[in-house]
Amino acid sequence: MLNLSVLLEDSVRRYPDRVALVFGTERLTYAHLDALANQVANLLAARGIGPGDKVALSCPNIPQFPAVYYGILKAGAIVVPLNILLKPREITYHLDDSGAALYFCFEGTDDLPMGEYGRAGFDNAAGCREMILLTADPDTSSPIPGVGTLARAVETRPDTFDTVVREPGDTAVILYTSGTTGRPKGAELTHANMLLNALTANRLFDSTPLRPDTYLLTLPLFHSFGQTVTMNAGLSVGATLVLLPRFDAKAALELMVGEDITVFAGVPTMYWALLGAVDDTVDVDRISRSLRRAISGGAALPVEIHAQFERRFGVRILEGYGLSETSPLAVFSDPERDPRPGSIGVPVWGIEAKLVDEHWNPVLGDDQVGELALRGHNVMKGYLGRPDATAEVMRDGWFRTGDLARRDEDGFYYIVDRAKDLIVRGGFNVYPREIEEVLMTHAAVSLAAVVGVPDERHGEEVKAFVILEPGARITETELIDWCKDQMAGYKYPRSVEFTAALPMTATGKILKRELVSAVVDQVRGR
Ligand code: AMP
Repeated sequence: MLNLSVLLEDSVRRYPDRVALVFGTERLTYAHLDALANQVANLLAARGIGPGDKVALSCPNIPQFPAVYYGILKAGAIVVPLNILLKPREITYHLDDSGAALYFCFEGTDDLPMGEYGRAGFDNAAGCREMILLTADPDTSSPIPGVGTLARAVETRPDTFDTVVREPGDTAVILYTSGTTGRPKGAELTHANMLLNALTANRLFDSTPLRPDTYLLTLPLFHSFGQTVTMNAGLSVGATLVLLPRFDAKAALELMVGEDITVFAGVPTMYWALLGAVDDTVDVDRISRSLRRAISGGAALPVEIHAQFERRFGVRILEGYGLSETSPLAVFSDPERDPRPGSIGVPVWGIEAKLVDEHWNPVLGDDQVGELALRGHNVMKGYLGRPDATAEVMRDGWFRTGDLARRDEDGFYYIVDRAKDLIVRGGFNVYPREIEEVLMTHAAVSLAAVVGVPDERHGEEVKAFVILEPGARITETELIDWCKDQMAGYKYPRSVEFTAALPMTATGKILKRELVSAVVDQVRGR
């Protein structure tokens, strides 16, 4: 008997008056957040929505997200968070594929008309019965701050609710992911998956209710990293979550100073942007004094960025690794042992890891490259309605990640690269991450992304996209010549494109597929 919402309810019982959420000038206590979630649960119950039903949610990092998320869970239903950048056609696909009975959608902002897209997506969906628009209307006479910003349909509901109890193995959340291939698939994560993962995160971050943390929450909540590692983990220990809906390095630094942030979790490009935004106006000492834990995940953290951050802020970044399918946390730096630059650490408590070849045969031996497979309490039940796709990646409880990795003699894992990003140039394997790490040691290079582009002679050719340090001057030929001296002949980039920005997902991961298709389009003269 278990419901993931217990992590909020336990904190509500123990610290009702602590501040749970900070959003601009709004401050919501745990009791307030719980009352909002109860109103949502009452609304769903009145619509007959309960165990087994799916409820979709499109919402940025504003108080409405956690209120609706826990409300759905309390009602015993399954949360289906959607990427906030989806366009109408994609929204229809997600609503239909998940079989969502009801859809909560934030009205959006001037530059991101989520409500409009949501309405168009909903209108074409086959089975979804109702869409509820979450508004940002600040005019409210409600005694609970934030209620006016929820939804008129919800406001009139009672603010107490008896949570519907579920079993640990029942699905709590469905996270859509492209996985290693194909169209987005819904990873079914259970109440036990999600709860244990949040509690594991707390252990690794040394978070405890006795010394409540203040998290900066800017990783999008629809994605597992922000959802489990900051929202669920933080609320379960009575922390305060400071919400920043759209990552902006300057705004993040200001909040770090103004709110005395103790825990920051971000993807590598966020750390890169923070470093770039530090100037004389930023009180770095104050940030260093309060920041207790800095966590990176979601993509490989370049060794250079790691080193620069530690020099600047005096805080070691702990690196985590995981996927939507693994709730996500699976492997994490061991804070008690010496840092190993470039390593994702060791499997977290209760999780097994191994390396396999394409036939699931074990790859043994130190530093041998194989595909990382994981087993344990964090692994999803499977992809919703896709037994074939599930069977491709799961066997005997083991889940293949699609990531190539090696393990050193002390059991530390290193992600070599994603299998699908591997470049095969003239029969030789080139791992883009290795080239990126080398490029970033060049004084003129600020950020690098390496991809394989189609090539008649070699099948694929190595191409680098580079953002230069401000004021740096270097030509393509100079940089390529420098690379030639640093690495074997088959690896160095044959072309370098200087760019001001790189395409990124809503989470801040570099979109390599887009870089490749831009090159392909150019070649085809589109
Ligand atoms: P998602 O399902 O969106 O969370 O994406 C999961 C993918 O992100 C993994 O399969 C990895 O390719 C990548 N990833 C996550 N964490 C790391 C990390 N610390 N180092 C390298 N890649 C990572």
